[in-house]
Amino acid sequence: KASNVQPLNAVSLQAGQKEYIPLLETEKGESTLSIVVIGASGDLARRKIFPALFALFNEDRLPENFTIFGYARSIMTDEELRNMISKTLACRVDKRENCNEKMDAFLKRCFYQSGQYSSEEHFVGLNNKLKGEEAGRTSNRLFYLAVPPNMFLDAARCAKRRASSENGWTRVIIEKPFGRDTESSRELTRGLRQYLCEDQIFRINHHMGEELVENLLVLRFSNLVFEPLWSRNYIRNVQLIFSEDSGTEGQGRYFDNYGIIRDIMQNHLLQILALFAMDTPVSLDAEDIRNEKVKVLRSMIPVQLEDVVVGQYKGDCNGNTSYPAYTDDMMVSKNSLTPTFAAATLFINNARWDGVPFLMIAGKALHSKRAEIRVQFRHVPGNLYNRKFGTNLDQAGNELVIRIQPDEAIYLKVNNKVPGLGMRLDSSYLNLLYKARYAREIPDAYERLLIDAIEGERRLFIRSDELDAAWSVFTPLLKALEENKVAPELYSYGSGGPIGVHYLAARHNVRLG
Ligand code: NDP
Repeated sequence: KASNVQPLNAVSLQAGQKEYIPLLETEKGESTLSIVVIGASGDLARRKIFPALFALFNEDRLPENFTIFGYARSIMTDEELRNMISKTLACRVDKRENCNEKMDAFLKRCFYQSGQYSSEEHFVGLNNKLKGEEAGRTSNRLFYLAVPPNMFLDAARCAKRRASSENGWTRVIIEKPFGRDTESSRELTRGLRQYLCEDQIFRINHHMGEELVENLLVLRFSNLVFEPLWSRNYIRNVQLIFSEDSGTEGQGRYFDNYGIIRDIMQNHLLQILALFAMDTPVSLDAEDIRNEKVKVLRSMIPVQLEDVVVGQYKGDCNGNTSYPAYTDDMMVSKNSLTPTFAAATLFINNARWDGVPFLMIAGKALHSKRAEIRVQFRHVPGNLYNRKFGTNLDQAGNELVIRIQPDEAIYLKVNNKVPGLGMRLDSSYLNLLYKARYAREIPDAYERLLIDAIEGERRLFIRSDELDAAWSVFTPLLKALEENKVAPELYSYGSGGPIGVHYLAARHNVRLG
């Protein structure tokens, strides 16, 4: 049936590289989807990918004919893989009685093939097994590379050469880190492009799949009240906060090579910033949204060393071993200068945002776990209440808070008169707390991203030019920090981070949230 098939986005594909959408309506029941999790024995696969796939199956979001293959070097039988997976599946959404039956049905569709990531011969074995399950139907294949980054290229090569679909589409999801700086990221992109065209590569940043991040565009572009205020005329500053209350426990080896700026700021927070700050896209199509994000990123001034505070957590001074120092990790050098905390002020050099500081704060081992966007508005000009009652009438500026996690919420701080005969104002909240408003549980970010990849919806995945523009914002800073061996300011585990962040915020007139 391949000859009936129309190429997707033929214009954006390179010559000779065609991605096919094989699903003519009449063929739907005849096609099959094979999802191959490369690195199936790993942490990400067990904790996130298999549970997300089950949740999609449980909600009837996967196609009728699908199979899931785990692939890794570990030797396992299909049954052992199923046992491993079953421990992490949960009936999160569907709590009805048949959930256990659904689990069994799901597990029956899971298979395992062991092999090396760089062995084309082993991928031929995988291909044969896939074909066996696909039973001659049109096959679409989604590979999820859940392996350490140094395996990406080998796995992509083998998947493409020996196990890609012959009559349907082949797509490959890769996880961050996408390089360590502009040069290594470009090298990775060039390497992947030897085997895959851009439209086949789905660079995942799971925070882009979070409910509140998705809602950011709805909030901005389907309400009249926000977008007119969304500029330097009304917004004084924006904070993007990602704070974790645990350290790097168990991840020291990975983390020490990357640090908080690469791990959180350059990708998660910058992606959110781009969505927050972009202009109205021509449409909701992936390319239109990603075009606008690239424009914002390319308008950004590379972060300057003087606009940054870096920190590293130290242990509990009372010797409590539950709160170790970062350098207590066996995999981390005692002299490590890797920041576990960073705060940076960024500026967008365009008409909408000129002069507005975007303060990014990211840290591990802090006092709270939260991800938030906080938008502080300018003060009311010629404020009547200040004129009549003086500044002792306590009035805070308006602030819009989008809390991405935990306890998803959107709230607006407004000044309000305290009921009574006198004139006293206080800062109150118009509060949209998701769990109070919506009974439904919020899907895990991986569920949304996996279904998007299956459906070919690319808007939440990072395009190569976006990635390149994002690295350009941070690469000079990363080089300066490393070349100058900038020592991070130490902060206590469980504290609010280094003192320096308060000075940085004060310099840009930001009230820390
Ligand atoms: P793991 O370290 O658990 O590795 C996954 C699998 O890869 C392992 O089970 C192992 O399988 C194989 N592997 C591990 N080390 C090597 C090696 N040196 N050479 C060859 N194969 C190796 O990784 P994660 O599952 O934690 O993460 C996978 C990818 O996703 C990484 O790129 C990571 O950065 C990224 N990521 C992970 C997140 C998470 O929450 N875990 C979050 C965001 C991104 P076997 O020995 O059976 O072949």
